[in-house]
Amino acid sequence: MTEKLSDIVIGQGIAAHAFLWTYAQMIKEGRLDRARRVIWIKSPVFPTCSLTSTSLISRAGLHRGESRHGDHLIAGFELFQKYFQNFSGVEVATQKHLPHGDIDNFNKRFGDAPEACLLASSRVFLSSLEQTFKSILKDSLIELSDTLVEYSEHEITLHSGKKLNFNQCYLALGAANSLLGFTDKTRAVSGQYAHAKADLGESAWILSKGPHNLIYRAQDKTLLLGSLDDKEDELGWPNLAPRTNDLKSILENFEVDLPKGLDWKIEVGVRHKGHKRLPFWGRVAGEVYSIHGLYKNGYTLAFLAAKELLR
Ligand SMILES: Cc1cc2nc3c(=O)[nH]c(=O)nc-3n(C[C@H](O)[C@H](O)[C@H](O)COP(=O)(O)OP(=O)(O)OC[C@H]3O[C@@H](n4cnc5c(N)ncnc54)[C@H](O)[C@@H]3O)c2cc1C
Repeated sequence: MTEKLSDIVIGQGIAAHAFLWTYAQMIKEGRLDRARRVIWIKSPVFPTCSLTSTSLISRAGLHRGESRHGDHLIAGFELFQKYFQNFSGVEVATQKHLPHGDIDNFNKRFGDAPEACLLASSRVFLSSLEQTFKSILKDSLIELSDTLVEYSEHEITLHSGKKLNFNQCYLALGAANSLLGFTDKTRAVSGQYAHAKADLGESAWILSKGPHNLIYRAQDKTLLLGSLDDKEDELGWPNLAPRTNDLKSILENFEVDLPKGLDWKIEVGVRHKGHKRLPFWGRVAGEVYSIHGLYKNGYTLAFLAAKELLR
């Protein structure tokens, strides 16, 4: 099968959704040179980390001009805020930082942290993005359930045996990148969070202490505690879950009164950690481009990555 005028997008996480949303907006605004056919490939095999994410979008602890990565995170936050603050599945939350570790460092980092951040309910948000870009792309978007096994400069091979040619191909494969050996010096790192239903009112809030966030998502009255990383997981893919014996002790750190008898459940996701913890968006071969290594910041960075790739 040859689709000379097609663009191909592979993946169904936030990186692929952000890319398709940005692509569709640019077509709508006449800013993409030509409206092409887009083939969206979704794997029935590989999991989607974006659906097992606490999806907090915050710029706390970041200061402009300290590092390129920090500047990217601030730009990503501002872009997300500009377009999605009032989008379905997103709410504004109050974020409070509790003292942790060296107090001088803590004050330097978080003393001027903004109180407001954004919180997405990942499934609802991804599905709202999908509705939006489908309403723009209409019949020019073709969905295919298959898995990428190989790519070269102008051709991909899928697990079904199908080969597709393309104009441009965009990979948004998350942690499967390192499993398939598509990128160098990157790795898969598992992460977990706990969640429980609790009605704590109509306003969303976050208490942050060191690496942990206790989150109240008001839109669906859910408490989340993340990220409960498990350093023991071989190769970053969790082989046993849940393993969160320390849930109770982490909760005690927050010194907050929660309703008794909460029914905590655990979600596990696998993130893609870039070389030196840095994200990547750019060309990987011929007309093949990739967005990967978003690690702990996929929701903050995905729209910036899409915008810069399509520029
Ligand atoms: C517990 C936890 C908490 C987190 N909290 C936050 C947070 O608060 N804020 C934040 O910004 N980020 C957070 N993250 C990180 C965030 O979830 C990730 O950075 C983000 O989901 C990465 O998105 P992605 O689209 O790159 O990858 P994914 O969401 O994993 O998507 C990759 C997609 O590629 C597909 N795929 C892979 N290989 C192939 C193939 N060969 N062929 C076809 N399709 C393929 C998969 O099926 C999947 O759909 C958290 C992560 C975890 C685990």
